[in-house]
Amino acid sequence: MTRPRFRAIGLRTAPAPRLEMSRPRRGHSFGSDRKFVRMARRRQIYEGKAKILYEGPEPGTLIQYFKDDATAFNAQKKGTISGKGVLNNRISEHVFTLLGNIGVPHHFIRRLNMREQLIRQVEIVPIEVIVRNVAAGTLSKRLGIEEGTQLPRTLIEYCYKDDALGDPLVAEEHIACFNWCSQDELHDIQDMAIRINDFMSGMFAAVGIRLVDFKLEFGRLYEGDFSRIILADEISPDGCRLWDMTTNEKLDKDRFRRDLGGEVEAYQEVARRLGLLPEGGENAVLDLESHRKKKGS
Ligand code: C5P
Repeated sequence: MTRPRFRAIGLRTAPAPRLEMSRPRRGHSFGSDRKFVRMARRRQIYEGKAKILYEGPEPGTLIQYFKDDATAFNAQKKGTISGKGVLNNRISEHVFTLLGNIGVPHHFIRRLNMREQLIRQVEIVPIEVIVRNVAAGTLSKRLGIEEGTQLPRTLIEYCYKDDALGDPLVAEEHIACFNWCSQDELHDIQDMAIRINDFMSGMFAAVGIRLVDFKLEFGRLYEGDFSRIILADEISPDGCRLWDMTTNEKLDKDRFRRDLGGEVEAYQEVARRLGLLPEGGENAVLDLESHRKKKGS
């Protein structure tokens, strides 16, 4: 039986759209942007508090999507910072690219669009690496050290990545005992954390920002039978404490955690100082997604 041919005009029984084929949004076609290529709906691999990971276009790659969602205190506080995802995507691209230039291996391949970047798939080491130059946050609370006190040396702390347990602080001994990573891997992580801190402290100081502390995550990149440790996740004001050097104003997620307001302006200020926003374009976060939402289409 031959399929009936539908004429464009006077069509009464339009064929149902095929579900697995979607008209890609701008930036989602892996071929030309102008052509709407037929492509399968992307498979979501993981959804975190601030990011979603989708299957990438090639084996061993993922797409990292930056959301506007913000959480604090182990997700007890939740909110949205409109435009945050766009800024974090851009800031993280910038920092990873510069770190790559000084020889720090990382998962970032390239930015795809306002909210997405192509990354290498890694096996995440279940440890959050916290690097501190100045006392703040949980360190100040735990040890009674006044916030803003310069530490006599850089301090590296580790938290076990487990939301249900509230990412508890652990010692190197725990990491070895439970084999969350090998001794060699931990040495690589420590070396990289120190190099990243040296580089980022200088980069931010050059634009009048004090790098108080920050969180890093690392992953195993498998190459045949071997694996090596590379920097993963993101580096953005979500996971760093960034204070203006002259006023001590907070330019990071503490504005959300502590109800200070002006979160997106602070993130924009960081991006602007790093030269990532056009001069005089403080509000120039062109986010097509939120623009479409506002227009209701
Ligand atoms: O809260 P605390 O003082 O331990 O945070 C230290 C640093 O690590 C801060 O810059 C914070 O933004 C970051 N961090 C993070 N994600 C966590 C815990 C801490 O980005 N789960």
